[in-house]
Amino acid sequence: MAELRREPVARRWVVITTDNPKGPSDYLPFKLPYRLPESGDQCPFCPGNERVTPHETFSLKKDGKAWSVRVVPNKFPFFRIEGEFNRRPEGMYDVMEAIGAHEIVVEAPEHDKALATLELQQIERILLAYRERLIDLEKDRRFLQFLILKNYPGIFNRHPHSHILAMPVIPRSIDEEVWGMVDYYQRKERCIFCDIVKEEISAKKRVILETVHFLIFAPFASRYPFETWIVPKTHASDFHHLKEEEIGDLAVGIQSLFLCFSKLLADPPYSFVLHTSPVQERFHRPEYHWHIETRLRIGLREGFEWGTGLFVNPTPPEDAAACLRGVK
Ligand SMILES: [Zn+2]
Ligand SMILES: [Zn+2]
Ligand SMILES: [Zn+2]
Repeated sequence: MAELRREPVARRWVVITTDNPKGPSDYLPFKLPYRLPESGDQCPFCPGNERVTPHETFSLKKDGKAWSVRVVPNKFPFFRIEGEFNRRPEGMYDVMEAIGAHEIVVEAPEHDKALATLELQQIERILLAYRERLIDLEKDRRFLQFLILKNYPGIFNRHPHSHILAMPVIPRSIDEEVWGMVDYYQRKERCIFCDIVKEEISAKKRVILETVHFLIFAPFASRYPFETWIVPKTHASDFHHLKEEEIGDLAVGIQSLFLCFSKLLADPPYSFVLHTSPVQERFHRPEYHWHIETRLRIGLREGFEWGTGLFVNPTPPEDAAACLRGVK
């Protein structure tokens, strides 16, 4: 089961899951990084173990036979697809069932691949899987927001995979971006991300690389060392309306960027999120400009960031971009 509980002071929603609860022993330092399944029999994502996962929602086959990318519902989802919202009070608090979708994209049959070591075609297939799943999930009117995310290495399984989430609420970080973009549009009749792209191309110093359709750069106010944004150069609010040739071009950008990270920082741990406009007629925002944000999981100052919501970044984005350009 998963519930959405609302924290009443800062008014933020939190997903509490109870399907596969983790107790103190799961977090003990000497057990970290958890008991990770090894390739072969133990790994639910390795070829041959397809029966262990829920029935796939999408797959791409190589030569019409073995799968090359596979999408399956998460066995222990943050959001589940069946049921009612059942919005209700619990004492003074608000709670509702976490209805949504949570799917896993198994990015390759090989257990120990990474974005930096995948073939270009394979990255294209992953992006294609993202797009096709979002097109399908959008048909469910209950879902207002999509998020695609990846943690590398995976936290509970090292087999290369990413997550697709379809949510019944618009999470705060996306809502803040939506209102930032709408506010700028109302004042200037221009898109702020389109303006940022122009600004960065002319300033040059934070650009890491540029492809035909995408600009990859260290944002001006980077929160994390080597924080990077991948932004389409022409305005587009929805990732899932991406055309075939743009998918190929995005794959080129992603592969080069993660190769740069890997060369510069010896295969660092990272996370990325893909932010796209809310969906459904009432919530869709044509002013929104979709993008990918990446962050390396290094040098976090957890206490300060947690306590203040402010970030301290000791690597200026201009230096970060120069280093990454240097290893290309
Ligand atoms: Zn595996
Ligand atoms: Zn734009
Ligand atoms: Zn964003």
